[in-house]
Amino acid sequence: MSEAFAEGRVHVRAPGKLNLFFEVGAVQDDGYHDVASAYQAVSLYEDVWASHADDFTINVSGTVDVTGVPADDRNLAVRAARLVAQRIGYRGGVHLDIAKSVPVAGGMGGGSADAAAALVACDALWGADLGGAELHKLAARLGADVPFALMGGTAVGTGRGDQLSPALAKGRFDWIVVPSDDGLSTPEVYGHLDALRSAHDIASVVRVPEIDPAVLQALRAADPVALAEHTRNDLQAAALSLRPGLRDVLELGERSGALAGMVSGSGPTLAFLAGDPESALELQMMLSASGLTALHVHGPVAGARVVGS
Ligand code: ATP
Repeated sequence: MSEAFAEGRVHVRAPGKLNLFFEVGAVQDDGYHDVASAYQAVSLYEDVWASHADDFTINVSGTVDVTGVPADDRNLAVRAARLVAQRIGYRGGVHLDIAKSVPVAGGMGGGSADAAAALVACDALWGADLGGAELHKLAARLGADVPFALMGGTAVGTGRGDQLSPALAKGRFDWIVVPSDDGLSTPEVYGHLDALRSAHDIASVVRVPEIDPAVLQALRAADPVALAEHTRNDLQAAALSLRPGLRDVLELGERSGALAGMVSGSGPTLAFLAGDPESALELQMMLSASGLTALHVHGPVAGARVVGS
């Protein structure tokens, strides 16, 4: 028996993500926004163990505050498990044990990573062997960021962010991630962006959203300095308007040697890009010395994978 199936359970690990570039277009008739996103999977992981059970149950723990995470059918991982069961006509259930390291409601796609991990874990546990394309379809039904958590690496997402194509990224990018105690709701941040745009406080994007080619070039060239010049997140203005205190932390990071600082996704987690692992370590020490939680992560890393197989 492989390590992955030790004690009759499957262990899957899925990464959190950073948005290196995020352009938000106009709101569509269905209430969603068209976006163009450059995603990078980073080395902050969610671990999910799946074991046979009669019903669908879940236990959530972690190194981050998990009090806001539902431990019932509202959990995205449980919905993912049910979707796999429905797709293959499986009549049993599963128990999911989740150990979270990605900040909850932090804009790093932790719930999406749990869902992607649950898809892969149930597929393996039940011997479904659905294959990448089918798992991707199920992922897209669960949420815009779930397909990327499955895929990992570096990718461009359009539509709602779920129409993915891999982007070539050479080398390794070092990031310092600074989580906040209180999460931000993604719909609230989008709603605030719409309000700021309709009040003409900030400009609207009228064209179909697209990634700045300079970002893709910087990724291909493994050039963090060029990447820092061209990162952009349209949700940042809205997140900073809802959490003005984040501005001081962004300035502190940039004064402390970060090449760039930005809000990750819908925030409030901040991500600072460093030039190399040593500079990242220095930046981490300086931010920690100011009393902030500062985590050193790197990307790109693989998407949801069975551990030990
Ligand atoms: P995204 O960037 O994909 O919008 P996020 O990283 O900002 O997501 P998540 O941590 O994924 O935020 O969760 C947002 C909300 O989703 C939580 O506040 C919680 O109520 C709900 N949720 C459902 N399932 C999960 C899960 N497995 N882990 C975390 N939150 C979950």
